[in-house]
Amino acid sequence: MELIYNSTRNKEEKVTASQAILRGLAPDGGLYVPAFIPALDRDMKEFAGMTYQETAYEVMKLFLTDFTEEELKDCIAKAYDEKFDTKEIAPLVEKGGVYYLELFHGATIAFKDMALSILPHLMTTAAKKNHAEHEIVILTATSGDTGKAALAGFADVPGTRIIVFYPKDGVSPVQEKQMVTQKGDNTFVVGIRGNFDDAQTGVKKMFGDRKLGEELAKGGFQFSSANSINIGRLVPQIVYYVYACAKLLASSAVAEGEKINVTVPTGNFGNILAAYYAKNMGAPIGKLICASNENKVLYDFFRTGVYDRNREFILTSSPSMDILISSNLERLLYRISGEDDKKDAGLMEALASGGRYAISEEMKGELADFYGNFATMEETAKEISDVYRESGYILDTHTAVASAVYKKYVRETGDAAAKTIIASTASPYKFSRSVLTAIDKKYESMDDFALADELSALSGTKIPPAIEEIRTAPVLHRTVVRTDEMEQAVKGFLGI
Ligand SMILES: *Cc1c(COP(=O)(O)O)cnc(C)c1O
Repeated sequence: MELIYNSTRNKEEKVTASQAILRGLAPDGGLYVPAFIPALDRDMKEFAGMTYQETAYEVMKLFLTDFTEEELKDCIAKAYDEKFDTKEIAPLVEKGGVYYLELFHGATIAFKDMALSILPHLMTTAAKKNHAEHEIVILTATSGDTGKAALAGFADVPGTRIIVFYPKDGVSPVQEKQMVTQKGDNTFVVGIRGNFDDAQTGVKKMFGDRKLGEELAKGGFQFSSANSINIGRLVPQIVYYVYACAKLLASSAVAEGEKINVTVPTGNFGNILAAYYAKNMGAPIGKLICASNENKVLYDFFRTGVYDRNREFILTSSPSMDILISSNLERLLYRISGEDDKKDAGLMEALASGGRYAISEEMKGELADFYGNFATMEETAKEISDVYRESGYILDTHTAVASAVYKKYVRETGDAAAKTIIASTASPYKFSRSVLTAIDKKYESMDDFALADELSALSGTKIPPAIEEIRTAPVLHRTVVRTDEMEQAVKGFLGI
C-alpha cells in the first residue's frame, strides 16, 4: 500500500515519499508528514538477528513505499559502508548502567551522518523517479554538524549543488574548520552574522519565496533541503532506535516486551521525533526524555504547554543544540492535535508573528510519553568529569547534557528500573576543548590540535580521520554575509 505524505499545514497537499524528499519543505511552509505511522511488520526477535543494513531496509521500506526494493537496498548499501569505522554502524556501549548509543562513527563524527550518508542517494533516486528536469540545490542551515555531514554527502554528487549557512560565531573551531575546508566544485559554505535560528529562518524564507523559485527554475535549478525538516532525514533516524532496542533484546539486557527509555540531546527536535515515530511503530520504547541545554525552550514547553522563543539566545558548550525554534516540533503538534492541519497552521502563524503559542489542555494530555529537562553548562561539565572518573568513558558535551538530564529524570520520577538508551550524538573529538577542560583545567592553555592528542591519550582511542584531515587542509570557503544578504549569496553561487 502506498504511503502518502501531506503538509502539516494543509492536508490537501499530497505527495509520494520521493516527491516529499525532493521538495524538502511543502509549498505552504509546512513539513511533510506520513498520512499514518506504519507498524513494524517484523517482531523484535527477528530484528535482534539483523545487521544495521537489514534493519534499515525493514524500517525504511514502510515509509518510502514508492522506492523499489532494489533502489532502497542500493541506497542503503552505498550509505552504510566503510565510511563508518565499525561494522555495527551504531554500537551500544554500556557504562554505569546506561546504554550509550554511539551515533558518531560516520565520516564527520556526529550523528548527522546517520541520515546524511543516505540522503544524497535517496535524493538522486527520487530525482530520477520523478524525472526532475532541474539541478537540485540543497539549501541548508546548520548549528554546526548538519553542515559538514551534508557537504560530505553531497560533494561531487552529479546533478546537485549544496549551499550551507552557519552562524559565524556560533560553532566550535573544529566544526568550522571541517566545513570551510570542504572540497568539491558543487559545494558552497557561508558564515552568517547571526545565530542558527537566523540561518534557519533565512533558508525557510527562500524556500517559500515564489519569485525566487521562478528565477531558479529559469536558471535550471530547484531547491531541496538537507535539514531535518526533510522527511528523508527523519526516516533513516528511526532505524537506529529499532536497531538498539533489538540489540538489547539480543544481548538479554531486556526481556521481550520490556520497555526501554530513550534520552536524546535535543535541538531541532528531529532525533527525538524519530524515537517517537519508532515507538509509534511498535518498538518497545517507554519514556522519551528530551534533554536541552540552557536554551531550554522545550523544557518550558513540556512543563507549561507554552512555547515561547522570546528569550535570550545563549551560546553554550553544546552549540549544535543552541536553537530556539525547534522545527520538528511542528510534526509532533500535528500528531497530538489529531492531525488538525488548520490548528497546526494557526500555531505556526502565532510563532512566526509573536514568537509564541500555547497548546490546549487536550493536546498537552497527549504529551505523556515525553519528559523534558535541561542541564546548565556547569552541570554538563560536571557530568563529563563524573562519568570519566567513574568509568573512564569520555562523553562529548551534547551527550553529557543528555546524561545529566537522565539523572535528573531518575531523581525526579524514581524510575530507575527501566533500561535507558542515551543517544550519543557526537565524538568528543569534535568538542575537545570543552570536554577536556571539564576534566582538568590544565588543558585550558593548549591549542586545539594538542588537545586532540591529549584526548587520544586519555581515552585510549585513535584520533579519527575526520580530525586528522583538517589539521593541514587548506581553507577553501571564506564568504561571510549578513542575514539580509543570504539570497544574494545564493544567486551569486548559482550565477542567476
Ligand atoms: C544536531 C545535533 C543535536 C540535536 O539534534 P536535533 O535532531 O536537532 O534535535 C544534538 N547533538 C549533536 C551533536 C548534534 O549535531
